[in-house]
Amino acid sequence: MEELDCVVVGAGVVGLAVARALALSGREVLILEAADAIGTETSSRNSEVIHAGIYYPAGSMMARFCVAGREALYHYCTERGVAHRKCGKLIVATSETELEILPAIAARAAANGVTDLRQISIDEARDLEPALSATGALLSPSTGIIDSHSYMHSLLGDAENAGAMLVLKSPVLGGRVVGGGIELDVGGDDPITIRCRLLVNSAGHGAPALAQAIEGMPKEHIPKAYYAKGSYFALSGQKTPFSRLIYPVPVKGGLGIHLTLDLSGQARFGPDVEWIDTIDYAVDPARVESFYAGIRRYFPELKDGALIPAYSGIRPKIVPPAVAAQDFVVQGPETHRVAGLVNLFGIESPGLTSSLALADHVCELAQAAIPSRRLVS
Ligand SMILES: Cc1cc2nc3c(=O)[nH]c(=O)nc-3n(C[C@H](O)[C@H](O)[C@H](O)COP(=O)(O)OP(=O)(O)OC[C@H]3O[C@@H](n4cnc5c(N)ncnc54)[C@H](O)[C@@H]3O)c2cc1C
Repeated sequence: MEELDCVVVGAGVVGLAVARALALSGREVLILEAADAIGTETSSRNSEVIHAGIYYPAGSMMARFCVAGREALYHYCTERGVAHRKCGKLIVATSETELEILPAIAARAAANGVTDLRQISIDEARDLEPALSATGALLSPSTGIIDSHSYMHSLLGDAENAGAMLVLKSPVLGGRVVGGGIELDVGGDDPITIRCRLLVNSAGHGAPALAQAIEGMPKEHIPKAYYAKGSYFALSGQKTPFSRLIYPVPVKGGLGIHLTLDLSGQARFGPDVEWIDTIDYAVDPARVESFYAGIRRYFPELKDGALIPAYSGIRPKIVPPAVAAQDFVVQGPETHRVAGLVNLFGIESPGLTSSLALADHVCELAQAAIPSRRLVS
């Protein structure tokens, strides 16, 4: 049986960042991906925003890894030529009630170490974005956008240069905890069983199911998977008048129907929140009706018929709709007592922004649990 040091399951942005970090630390790494390409799930179905770290509860992993990951990501993109732009964002209040919420958002951001967020006057907001309608706004200069595909390819290139191997069309079907490691049953065209000392379960939506399928992994530590779909609509037939991202004040379950830009300046609106039972990325054109009213609160010039269905992404939730937001779960042996296993559950937004910081954290956990052969020899 093939025996390896580390296996990372999932070649989304987080799995790739983890594989890169492990490989750069001198470990032998195999990345197993079910699909026929990297990043085809949540990592290519998001807003591609480099978040500043504003909204998350102080001290949470989301807050810490977003702030640290954002800085690391800007540095990485600049160094490696990954297309990105620090375009900034406005969080806009559109009523007196929402205006009262802005100071609390600013205070939370400050507690998270976001030092550059500031409340601006309506006049200043209109100077920056003349098409904006608002009662007040916060300006976040350190929010930006990124070409997530070129970022993922760059991560994979680094990992491969450090000796990692990616195998596509290789769904991990299950496995078992054995003495000195974990055995994995890998499906695909040439099914195989392999053994590894360290397994990083970075399977996104599939992470809870994969953990369930590993004999010896205590089931009480595995959360249930929930899916909160977010659909996007693109602006067509009307040039976007905005040069920054425009976010309303957050709503329960998401950040509200915001306007994001891609690197070519194209505007898209979304994502909304729709709890679903099975993964289905089709965008229901009928959902656009609720978009117009929400967007016109801050962009009254939006023309009838200007929104066309674009794409959707599905938040890998691990709590049901009624429960408050959940932090990232990075679960190592200190929780489940399986020596060579790190599970990543609920890696929703800001997972893209946090990817480099998350990867460093997983690497530290892994090194503490199963020291690298090369480092101990
Ligand atoms: C609507 C939406 C908007 C978002 N916007 C942003 C944003 O603007 N900024 C930001 O920072 N974050 C954002 N996020 C979050 C970010 O996209 C995710 O946190 C990130 O992409 C998660 O990456 P991942 O690698 O964990 O998961 P994924 O990208 O889902 O990758 C998991 C991979 O595992 C593979 N896999 C699953 N099961 C198996 C198996 N058994 N065997 C082998 N392979 C398997 C899948 O095929 C997949 O390729 C957003 C998320 C959503 C849903």
